[in-house]
Amino acid sequence: MSERQLLRRTAEIAADFLESLDERSVWPPASVDELRHALGGPLPDEPVDPLVVVEELATNADPGVIAIPGGRYFGFVIGGSLPAALAADWLTSTWDQNAGLVVGGPAAAVVEEVAGEWLKELFGLPAATSFAFVTGCQMAHVTCLAAARHAVLEHAGWDVERNGLGGAPPVRVFVGGKRHVTVDRALRLLGLGASSTVAVTVDEQGRMHPDALEAALADGDGPAVVCGQVGEVNTGAVDAMPEIAALAKAAGAWLHVDGAFGLWAAASPKLRHLVEGVSEADSWATDAHKWLNVPYDCGLAFVAHPEAHRAAMAMTAEYLVANPDAARDQMDWTPEFSRRARGLTVYAALRSLGRSGVAELVEQSCRHARRFADELARLPGCEILNEVVLNQVLLRFSDDDRTRAVLDAVQRSGEAWMSGTTWRDRFAIRISVSNWRTSDDDVSRTIAAFEQAATAS
Ligand SMILES: *Cc1c(COP(=O)(O)O)cnc(C)c1O
Repeated sequence: MSERQLLRRTAEIAADFLESLDERSVWPPASVDELRHALGGPLPDEPVDPLVVVEELATNADPGVIAIPGGRYFGFVIGGSLPAALAADWLTSTWDQNAGLVVGGPAAAVVEEVAGEWLKELFGLPAATSFAFVTGCQMAHVTCLAAARHAVLEHAGWDVERNGLGGAPPVRVFVGGKRHVTVDRALRLLGLGASSTVAVTVDEQGRMHPDALEAALADGDGPAVVCGQVGEVNTGAVDAMPEIAALAKAAGAWLHVDGAFGLWAAASPKLRHLVEGVSEADSWATDAHKWLNVPYDCGLAFVAHPEAHRAAMAMTAEYLVANPDAARDQMDWTPEFSRRARGLTVYAALRSLGRSGVAELVEQSCRHARRFADELARLPGCEILNEVVLNQVLLRFSDDDRTRAVLDAVQRSGEAWMSGTTWRDRFAIRISVSNWRTSDDDVSRTIAAFEQAATAS
């Protein structure tokens, strides 16, 4: 068996999986115990032929693989994989470049430079903005907030890279009451614990109250960071960016934005108004593995002040060969050292869609979400809990028990999968439309599954 034959067979297995997406149960049949039984056992002593390894892995894992790349998976906020991005991901693994340094892969470095500039243009970010391709929005927060920490403390006369946080002026961090937990964890990793954060009250959609932010900012002084949000993970709600940006600016605070999926609205001329003012921020964290539909994992950090970004991240050592062409060494901008050439899938996705294709992908997801809200609202007892501004629909049926029963029945039907949540102390169902593959037919099939579940429950 040649390497070529192995890769050919693997491509066949992959294509078979993709072609099964329409028919297979979205939630897979095997229990975790069954998977342990099929995949476990002692560490093998002897080598096994690679083809046997791949065939057996595919066969044994298949009953535990969720149809996430398919059009009827609406869980959390999870995109699929565009064909060009999936193929570029295979090349990324095949080429196996170490994209930390230009000397670890010049093409990987250049592709990342190009894709980073394309993204800035797509989002309408300031020309000087620097960027980093990281593992997800979580690490994008870490990257951006490290730059924020550097800048606000430098302004207060404190060198945090040299002196750490011991003895530093306290940094106040203002977050919305419905921020994503990854913001808190990023702050924790940066030495800014829960007692540094001030949770600003939010409205019934999860949007920060600008008045409350203004009052909180006025209640003290010193280095400050404000974390706004475009796209609340349940409702899709967007903070009032123009007001929040003006308040942050007036208070001399750094404004960071969590736009894990919501920032993509800026890529659509029709939806851009929803995130108006977002370009006023100092840093932005978003994901490519959600709405751009590249395979896991890929997050994106943008910083309007490249010198703060670089000061927070850059490191050097004697053995790290300076790159000959003064190109961009990625590790000067990322928390990772050795790293996957993450720019390749983003480059491929953007080239395959073009500017209009990205806009259409985002708009199409929002249209599907709108249709879910309109048609599900007609089912007995169904209540749509959010203003459907983006791709998120939050709904419930009569009471917590019935809502759980309907969700259970839809999940068990295998027709679609979405998760539950608690919103304002009540159990709710979240539908997130983030996959390029979701079609009108997928939406119809999912609505039918809800109809059946709602009549049975
Ligand atoms: C998904 C999400 C995150 C975390 O992103 P990861 O890519 O999973 O690290 C942060 N904020 C919001 C609003 C999200 O939806």
